[in-house]
Amino acid sequence: MKRREFLAAGAAAAVALSSRIDLKAEVTDSTYDGKSANQQANAHLCLCSQLGIIPGKDVEEKFAKMKAWGMEAAEFGGDVADPERAANYKKALADAGLKAAAVCWGSHGGDLMSFEKERKQRGTDDLKKVLEGAGILGCTGVIYVPAFNGQSPLTNQEIRKMLLDDFPALADFAAECGTTIIFEPLNRGEAFFLRQVADGAAIARDINEASEKKCGMAVMGDFYHMSIEETDMMGAFISGGKLLKHVHLAGGVSNPRRTLPGLNQSRFVEGFRGLKYIGYTGPCSFECGCPGDLDREEAIQNSLNFLRKEYELAVI
Ligand code: MG
Repeated sequence: MKRREFLAAGAAAAVALSSRIDLKAEVTDSTYDGKSANQQANAHLCLCSQLGIIPGKDVEEKFAKMKAWGMEAAEFGGDVADPERAANYKKALADAGLKAAAVCWGSHGGDLMSFEKERKQRGTDDLKKVLEGAGILGCTGVIYVPAFNGQSPLTNQEIRKMLLDDFPALADFAAECGTTIIFEPLNRGEAFFLRQVADGAAIARDINEASEKKCGMAVMGDFYHMSIEETDMMGAFISGGKLLKHVHLAGGVSNPRRTLPGLNQSRFVEGFRGLKYIGYTGPCSFECGCPGDLDREEAIQNSLNFLRKEYELAVI
């Protein structure tokens, strides 16, 4: 067969094949066609903090300082499970002109990832209580770690299955409260299960798909853990995509470890590129230490200014 005949025969075969295949994707009707995936025009750096690192005699004084320093929101602890406490925080936030970010809850000792019925029930009941408090306060979500190292005898596969079995109902409960459950991937020194943003996003997606409301599970990224586990900070945040609801800010492992951003060698530009690319507007919150010999108020303000500069430098 000559080359021209060969090509003609190939083309005829391709037409015959395409007429037999029932194509499911309509390329001319895609919402992605001809559009850039870059959402940086919508992105915004929303700086906030956990309350422990902020100086002040009470929550009102802490909130006033945070507002004056240009922070926009506050991250809470598990005490918001008390509805009265949640209502008080809500009033204090409104008075200060701040929003509620997430609740940092943790693993509840790994209780929800247990085969012991009573233990699992205890964890589930307490997660529901904190979700209700988060809902009252208007929090974006409750940060949840399935198990720290040593808290669950389950294997990686067993934990994933348990999450897929149990969490669609809990995700719907979160959505009914007006909030979410946010997976926090940790570094391997703290948790063998769930170490990367993409992994957390994939499990959150599967739980959402198995749930009724489809929106109760989310994921977050912590710059400290990510500096150990991720190969590409920009890529990691992009893989979180629309499921990314929270970010923890801290320098990485260089001395001083896990400190206020700017106080060690860690840079934030690459991660901020990822946050800009996905149009992230959610909270970026301090979860870090501050060396004791520093004036904390000055150190926090310097760190905020450092982060604003890093964000500006994050050109896509
Ligand atoms: Mg964290």
